[in-house]
Amino acid sequence: MLAGIKLRLYPNKKQQGQLFQMFGNDRFIWNQMLAMMNERYKNNHHLPFLGKYKLDILLKPLKHQYSFLKNSDSSSLQIVNANLNQAWKNFFDKSIRARKPKFHSRKSTKNSYTGKSTVRVIGRRYLKLPKLGYIKTSKTGLLKDAKIKRYTVSLEPTGKYYISFQVEVEKKELPKTNKEVGIDIGLADLAILSNGIKYDTFDGSYFDKKATEWQKKFSRRRHLAQRLVLQDKNKKVLNPRNLESFSNWQKAKIVKARYQNKVKNQRKDYLHKVTTELVKNYDVIAIEDLKAKNLQKNHHLAKSISNASWRMFRMMLEYKCEWYGKKLIIVNPKNTSRICSNCGFNSGEKPLNIREWTCQKCKVHHDRDINAAVNILNKAKLTG
Ligand SMILES: [Zn+2]
Repeated sequence: MLAGIKLRLYPNKKQQGQLFQMFGNDRFIWNQMLAMMNERYKNNHHLPFLGKYKLDILLKPLKHQYSFLKNSDSSSLQIVNANLNQAWKNFFDKSIRARKPKFHSRKSTKNSYTGKSTVRVIGRRYLKLPKLGYIKTSKTGLLKDAKIKRYTVSLEPTGKYYISFQVEVEKKELPKTNKEVGIDIGLADLAILSNGIKYDTFDGSYFDKKATEWQKKFSRRRHLAQRLVLQDKNKKVLNPRNLESFSNWQKAKIVKARYQNKVKNQRKDYLHKVTTELVKNYDVIAIEDLKAKNLQKNHHLAKSISNASWRMFRMMLEYKCEWYGKKLIIVNPKNTSRICSNCGFNSGEKPLNIREWTCQKCKVHHDRDINAAVNILNKAKLTG
């Protein structure tokens, strides 16, 4: 299934200049090709019009003649050709009776170009686009796992830049289960569901330990190499060694990176497994907005949370719910761990080591995390 994803783009000054050129180049190619086709048509109405393939071949000499065309994402010029070819086809198609293609002017056409080259997601807010390089965007999370078919970069009349992606989404909507769930995010457990199911935190400690080991080796070896290089320099030896001539610290760096990568990939796989299962099993999923919970106050807790990859967990839920036709509700975490989910009595904050407690008012015994998860679900029902 094809889906559209639209993100804001924040090009820097240089990139804005490049984009101005790229938008103009698209118009330029359209007009050049159209002028030529008009000429052919005028000379002989019965000549077959030039197909897309022939138009693409003409791009090379044009680029040679007008070197500014080389600043374009080259796939965008091919797409201009494809569009022109289609417009021309429509003109000849008696059932459509389209008008003859017109020239594009800066005023009449949108400032945009469409490309189909490789776009790489670099970080949560960065993409790498052909010719433009690294460019700042709004959240790229939705693009994870999406197969990008094509993209359109545009400058809207508001002065804002956008990029719209046409993506291929692998699976279609999942069947409805008529089930809802609240999820509390924990430390020992990654996720605790309102129905009592718990998902463990991913245990990457083995590879983490290995990575730390090699990080230490790397620092030590590098430090030693630096000292020897300095020694050579101070002694003014004939052939002073440089940092690169010591290979073992570089090796340590590579090994360290491999372990880090391994733990990262395995954690990601695990989170994929859990989030896919959740989206399959429930139609409505409620989670807390942890940003509002302000966990930074507790350093240890914050670290554990990042280990639990809470952010990635939430992001995966966000896009999977969107793609698979399920609903994600983010609730304010206020009081979710204080209120009794049975009677609503607020018995105040409880220290983290209190795992279970009994409500003073209704005497129901609670598992701390499950109670919170139920509260989260109840809140979602009120808001959603
Ligand atoms: Zn109660």
